[in-house]
Formats: sequence, C-alpha cells, structure tokens
Amino acid sequence: MKIISIIGAWAAGLMTAATILENSQNTDFHIHIFEKNPNPGKKVIISGGWRCNLTTGITDKKELLSRYTRGSEFIKTALGKFSPKKCREWFEAHWVRLKCEVDNRVFPVSDNGKDVVWVFEKIFEKYPDHITLHFSEWVENIKSNEKWYQVHTKNGVLESDVIAITTGGNAYSHTGSTGDGYAFARSLGHIVTPLGPSLSSFLTEEEWIKACSGIALAKAKIVFDVNGEKISLSGPLLFTHFGISGPLTFRVSSHLAFETITWEYTKMIKIAPIAEMWFEDWEKFLKNEFASHPKKTIINILTSLLSRRFAENILSEYLQNLEGIFVWSIGRNEREKLSHLLGDGFSITLKERRPGDEFVTAGWISTKEINDESMESKIKKNLYFAGEILDVDGVTGGFSLQICWSSGYVAGKDITSKI
Ligand SMILES: Cc1cc2nc3c(=O)[nH]c(=O)nc-3n(C[C@H](O)[C@H](O)[C@H](O)COP(=O)(O)OP(=O)(O)OC[C@H]3O[C@@H](n4cnc5c(N)ncnc54)[C@H](O)[C@@H]3O)c2cc1C
Repeated sequence: MKIISIIGAWAAGLMTAATILENSQNTDFHIHIFEKNPNPGKKVIISGGWRCNLTTGITDKKELLSRYTRGSEFIKTALGKFSPKKCREWFEAHWVRLKCEVDNRVFPVSDNGKDVVWVFEKIFEKYPDHITLHFSEWVENIKSNEKWYQVHTKNGVLESDVIAITTGGNAYSHTGSTGDGYAFARSLGHIVTPLGPSLSSFLTEEEWIKACSGIALAKAKIVFDVNGEKISLSGPLLFTHFGISGPLTFRVSSHLAFETITWEYTKMIKIAPIAEMWFEDWEKFLKNEFASHPKKTIINILTSLLSRRFAENILSEYLQNLEGIFVWSIGRNEREKLSHLLGDGFSITLKERRPGDEFVTAGWISTKEINDESMESKIKKNLYFAGEILDVDGVTGGFSLQICWSSGYVAGKDITSKI
C-alpha cells in the first residue's frame, strides 16, 4: 500500500488530498494529513475578512499572470491545468455556490469562508478508509533515504512513500504557519530563497496623512522605484490612523517585499489622488474652473473632485498661502505647483510595514528545483511542494489562494498517477 503524508491542512494540503481521493482508480493507498491545529482551514476561514476570496473572475491568461509579482513563469503551467475558471467550476460542483463581484473577486454566495473548508471535510468523509487526519499533531522533522520518508511527530514515526509539504509561509503565524517547511525543505536538500513580507499596510511619517484617516481614494496612483526601475500602480487607496492601506498599498508592498523599510531606512513614494489625472489634466481642469468661477475658493473648486478633508489637508501641508483666497488671485506659478502636486503626486515617507500585518510571505522554496508540471521536487523523488511555500506570490484578489488550489491540484494529480 502507498502511504502519502501531507504536512499542513489548509488550502494547498486540502486540495492535494481531495484530488488524490477523487481521481485515484487504484484503492491501494492511504493519505495521512498532519496539522498542528485542532481543525483544518484556520487561515482560509479568516481570508478576506471571513468571507474567503477564494479565486478571481479573471479568465484572460495574460491578465491573470500579470497579477503575480514573482513566479508567474513557474505557476503558469499549474494555472493552465487548474485555472480560476476550473476552480470555480470545481467548488460549484462541490456544493458551494459562488459569486463574482465587480472587481473580479470571487466569494461563496453565503459570504462564509467556512463553506470552503466544509467542502473538503465532506470529501474526506466519503473516503474514510483512505484518509487519516492527524489534527493537533505537529510534524517535528522529516527524514529520508532512497526508499522512504519518515514523518516524526510527538506520537511517533510514520514511514511514507510520498510526502507533500504544504506548510505555507510565516504570515499570520498565530494561525500555525510558522515557516516549518523552510527547515524541512532545507534538510531534504532544497535551496530556500530569502523571505519577504508581502501584502501589508505601511506606517508613514507625515502627520497630515494620518489626519486623513478614513478617507478612501477610489483610484489613486502610487509611483515608486525598485532597484532603479520606476513603477506606477493604480487602484483603491485608504488613509488610516497609522498611514496607508487598501488594495493599492498591498500591491505596492508586494513590489517592495524585499526592500528594507525601517525608521532608519525609510522609503519615498509619490501618491497622486486620481490615477488618470496627470499634471496637464489638472492644469486644464484648474484653468477652466478658475475662469468659470473666479470668486470660488480653491477648496470649493477641489471638492468637486476630492473630499473636502483631503483637499484641506493637502493645502494646509503644501500650499498654506492658497487657503481661503479666491481663485482669481492665484497666479500661474501657484496653480502649476498645485497641478504638479496633484498630477505627479506628493511625496510620502514609508517608515515601516505595519507589524504582523502582511498577508503572505514572498520567497521560500526555489521554483528552479521543482517540476512545474507536477510540483515534484527535481532533487528528491516523491517529494512535493504546493501553496504559499513556493516562491510564487501575487497581489490581493484571490490570487494567493488560486496558487494553492492550482499547485495542490497538480501535485494531487501527479501523486495519483503513481498509486
Ligand atoms: C488575514 C489573511 C487574509 C487573506 N485573505 C486572502 C484572500 O482573501 N484571498 C487569497 O487568495 N489569499 C488570502 N490570503 C492568503 C492565503 O490565505 C494564503 O496564501 C494561503 O492560506 C496559503 O495556503 P497554504 O495552504 O499554502 O498555507 P497555509 O494557509 O499557511 O497553511 C499551512 C498549514 O500548515 C500547518 N503547519 C505548518 N507547519 C506545520 C507542522 N510542522 N506540522 C503540522 N502542521 C503544520 C499550519 O498550521 C497551517 O494550517 C490571506 C492571508 C491572511 C493572513
């Protein structure tokens, strides 16, 4: 009988197991899932604020791949075999009705992340003779020789023919993802890449940003550089009591995952409040408004496009001399200064990632050592990796969980072919 051990019972591990159970023609196998928590799916349940944004509605391949900051070339094959569309069909076929929101995020219709975990529990119930769930059982060590792998836990040693390591990264480590896979992979001969926190909020230095707390910009633009390359991204941005957050900030943080950002080594970025409006657009708008409404104050002009509190804060920070005066008295220099500020963006100093706030870990197991067709190690036979432990990461919007479903499915299929 083939013994398959899966370490970690969250998105990637659960999908690997379900795929084996549902696809194997041969019945001579047994899966053991080891999970240090007493239940499966702790992080999946809290994903997306308990709603679980399990995948994306994006179907265009190129657009989909563009959402992965690192590892898109590697994950391309798995995304082809188990695409977001196929993923949605899979969950719908497994009793979970899904909905796609306007921004392409896909959730269970129930808005309850527990439904996603429940699917796997239901599948496992159907195959009691082929799966054993070892909850509250922490894998301490994995040993191997040419023939077998040994899984060491407090309850003893299990000899296995196949191992799938799906232990995730080390983001939100209180959910159990404490980076153990890092040590396992290294002990089994794999290269582990440097790690970086991704999809986080930032603490900023400027007090006026904090005074804008609660203001959301529907489509702002952030311009910054990484290793000398200028990057410009747009999307929803949120000002908070500590700095900046929201989808656009998370995207920026994904690009900055490997930059040192501390109180000593701060990072400058530029924020423009309306992505489509550059210097020339603001010039055109302001000239027009100044001519049409000479007796309006600049605040009253700006509030047709920006929130009042935001406009007031910008003026008091950068152009105090314009506060309260009629626009007819504003000269060209001052107007252009304002247009530059709003179009090119105002400089903001990032001084720290919000501690413990990141959603995923960038880095981990070098994908050069893993077969993208199967998720099997190129170093050791019958050793598989799937999910966040891979050196692949994307932005928010269901793309992280999609990595888990796709790589878990591909690993599961390949393991099935060996049973
Ligand atoms: C707050 C939050 C919200 C998120 N929201 C979304 C979202 O809406 N959409 C999205 O796509 N992504 C989201 N993500 C990211 C997504 O949840 C992760 O990328 C995904 O859960 C990774 O799945 P995984 O199975 O690879 O690893 P993990 O979810 O990290 O699971 C690994 C499991 O392995 C177990 N484990 C680890 N070491 C051991 C060991 N030694 N022995 C036994 N068990 C072990 C852990 O307890 C854990 O249960 C969110 C992340 C966070 C933190």
